[in-house]
Amino acid sequence: MLLRHTTAEIIERTALTVNPAKTCQPIGAMYAALGIHRCLPHSHGSQGCCAYHRSTLTRHYKEPVMAGTSSFTEGASVFGGQANLVQAIHNIFTIYEPEVIAIHTTCLSETIGDDIPQIIAKARAEGKIPPGKYVIHANTPSYVGSHVTGFANLVKGMVDYFATAGEGRKENRLNLIPGYVEPADMEEIKRLAAELGINCIMFPDTSNVLNTPQTGRYAMYPPGGVKVADLQRIGTSLGTVALGRLASGPAARALDTKCKVPCEILDLPIGLKATDRFIDTLRRIAGVAVPDTINLERGRLLDVIADMHQYFFGRRVALAGDPDQLIALTEFLVDIDMWPVYIVTGTPGKKFESRIRELTKTVPYPVKVQAGGDLFLLHQWLKQEPVDLLIGNTYLKYIARDEDIPLVRFGFPILDRIGHVYFPTVGYRGGLRLLEKILDALLDRQDREAPEESFELVM
Ligand code: SF4
Repeated sequence: MLLRHTTAEIIERTALTVNPAKTCQPIGAMYAALGIHRCLPHSHGSQGCCAYHRSTLTRHYKEPVMAGTSSFTEGASVFGGQANLVQAIHNIFTIYEPEVIAIHTTCLSETIGDDIPQIIAKARAEGKIPPGKYVIHANTPSYVGSHVTGFANLVKGMVDYFATAGEGRKENRLNLIPGYVEPADMEEIKRLAAELGINCIMFPDTSNVLNTPQTGRYAMYPPGGVKVADLQRIGTSLGTVALGRLASGPAARALDTKCKVPCEILDLPIGLKATDRFIDTLRRIAGVAVPDTINLERGRLLDVIADMHQYFFGRRVALAGDPDQLIALTEFLVDIDMWPVYIVTGTPGKKFESRIRELTKTVPYPVKVQAGGDLFLLHQWLKQEPVDLLIGNTYLKYIARDEDIPLVRFGFPILDRIGHVYFPTVGYRGGLRLLEKILDALLDRQDREAPEESFELVM
């Protein structure tokens, strides 16, 4: 029992997190930065932070993740990191030739209080930023929020640095902000918009950056990512559809304020209803009809839900992960008559709890929900009363093993499996994959537990 010290008895904790259900802000910022074409993320802090951020992303995506670091030592920690950052900007443009450097801060540089815009201005004044190259930044102190907050901050940074209203004329085009999802999800969101015949700019876009094919040649800057020229046009789009309130909402609102581009902030399109809302919003804004190809995909998902429903009904589920994902997932699970009874996110936020309560009000069972919670608390709830299934990231595997509960890996980070970045869980097709994974886990358990006389060939 690896977690044998977890007790069923719950003692109120206010200043202690055990086994957090989140990672740190810069990881999300680094992920978002990789969604800009020819962008090198830069971690303004110590080498240890940067190594942690890079290794977490590399282990999840199974692709080499490149990033610079300001390499703070004792001097920078006491006197500030200005000299290190100016030198880093010079070195990075000289040696690695990115088009953009996206700087995010760390706990240390935030505590010192380094003024990044002032340092960038100094680097520009000293000629360290070549013409036609860009340096953007986001503040990502990791003692607040989570990797989702860091992602949101850097996406908002793209708006702050690149968006312009132009001459005020709007072009027939939509912006799509995909939220903190896998590269394959971003690809799927773009595909659905293309099926509807919509001209769009997606930012950030990590498809074909962190799910690239094997070509036999290493490319420091893979072909994917939103181009700077496109980011400079987002302020002249007709509107923005932002997926995920926490991850995409701040950028969408900032663009509305800065360039008068109206936005609609939706849930991530995970599951039937959320995908319906996404498709309907695109259809309405663009004034197009939904093509038969999308209706066909929807019909297939509906059919599979009907076929699988008998196995899902009344199964109790515990979820841990990021708020945007959990909200959409909870709605989907309730729709298929599963009962999400324990829901924990490490990212703080009161709205999350009230939204989950709203979504689960038909669940005929007491629902426990905690924003800013940890996996220790989730484990304690499970010790008091177990569930049929766990859904969440790799860190749940210890609880799954100790309590002997099947686990479906979903969310970020997944460090112990390969392939997840290639298969979307958004859209109708993504819903099919999610349902298949859930049913496989439930039926594998049923097979394992079945006595010989009821071990069935046909289930
Ligand atoms: S010190 Fe802060 S920024 Fe660095 S790895 Fe730890 S939590 Fe993340």
